[in-house]
Amino acid sequence: MKIHAIQTGTVEIKKNQVIGKGPNAFHLINVLFGREWVEPVPIYAWVIEHNEGVIVVDTGDTARTSEPGYFPRWHPYYNLAVRFHVEPKEEIGVQLKKMGIGVKDVKKVILTHMHTDHAGGLHHFPESQIYVNMPEYKRTRGFQGQVDGYLSQRYPKWFSPQPIEFDGGAFSPFEKSWSVAAKGDVRVVPTYGHTPAHVSVVVKVEDVHYFLAGDTSYSEGNLLDKVADGVSPDPNQAIDTMQNILNFASQYPTVYLPTHDPNSEKRLKNRTTLSVKQ
Ligand SMILES: [Zn+2]
Repeated sequence: MKIHAIQTGTVEIKKNQVIGKGPNAFHLINVLFGREWVEPVPIYAWVIEHNEGVIVVDTGDTARTSEPGYFPRWHPYYNLAVRFHVEPKEEIGVQLKKMGIGVKDVKKVILTHMHTDHAGGLHHFPESQIYVNMPEYKRTRGFQGQVDGYLSQRYPKWFSPQPIEFDGGAFSPFEKSWSVAAKGDVRVVPTYGHTPAHVSVVVKVEDVHYFLAGDTSYSEGNLLDKVADGVSPDPNQAIDTMQNILNFASQYPTVYLPTHDPNSEKRLKNRTTLSVKQ
């Protein structure tokens, strides 16, 4: 089994999004009106070459983000607080093809959550089973979904995700899990916080666990420091999740791979595990 990092461009966000600023109730305001931007960060998706078929975790973003009118014009976050840079050749489908992985080879796609930089490449997977935690999918719907920044109007017409059923029991310290593969070496665990139904995927290769973390934090440093980002609706829940991940990493050698950490790809390659202070 092999895990590949696929970088689908970069995104610029505010410093106050990477690290929530001020009292929790002011986090979003400070994201919108903060003046400092961070250097562009990568948008990673992950490809697992598994003997039961290719599994993709998140789909990255699309070059369509540069089309005028792709984002709702009235939306303050898209107007003030984010800039995407994705070339057509950086979209996940194009990169998979280059690796010799065709549309039909991808059996399963798992979304950590449905923000646009994770769901923007969905159109590349018309033949796959796509799994989402249903409460997350429900959040994307209706007017409130639009206000929360989800772009459900951009999902492919055929998109009808399968629910993630957490029927795999506890996977310590996570209270529940779902085994994606019969062998039990790929599991989905709840990592609520960045969104209320956010999930992560844990892949065991030999004796190392690779934690495909989505946006549980924007970097390994922020996990170790347990700092919530500026867009989590419940920052305390996000911090509880980080503690769970740290507890996991103190039990098992764990390579922590968040979507936007510029060092994720290097850690994957070098199998650099988290060192948790006891
Ligand atoms: Zn996100």
